[in-house]
Amino acid sequence: MNPTHIEHIGIAVKNLAEAIKYYEEVLGLKCYAIEEVADQKVKTAFFKVGQTKIELLEATSEESTIAKFIEKKGEGIHHMAFAVNGLEGVLEEVESKGVRLIDKAPRKGAEGLDIAFLHPKSTGGVLTELCEHKD
Ligand code: ZN
Repeated sequence: MNPTHIEHIGIAVKNLAEAIKYYEEVLGLKCYAIEEVADQKVKTAFFKVGQTKIELLEATSEESTIAKFIEKKGEGIHHMAFAVNGLEGVLEEVESKGVRLIDKAPRKGAEGLDIAFLHPKSTGGVLTELCEHKD
């Protein structure tokens, strides 16, 4: 797979506005984008820490996986995203190594990235996202 860097860390929060306050006032980061991803029923807020981003995720519906996650585990780290090149090929490669895929093919995520998730049962319990910048 050979990821180039950690693209972002996804954090499930109950209240986006309150969470943003912590990242801005305590960590001193600046929220540079708020985006709703209708597909995933979430509202996201982004911060940059070097090359890596923090992606805060608030559910916009009870049906959202984020709502279900918080219900089960509470707020906290939801997933880790690696930047890769050639996402389609990478998915084939990891599947051939026995990894269960949540997304068999890339789909659109926030910030126009192509994304796909690997099942946490195959990744030591860490919901793993792979993403590719298509320029
Ligand atoms: Zn993500």
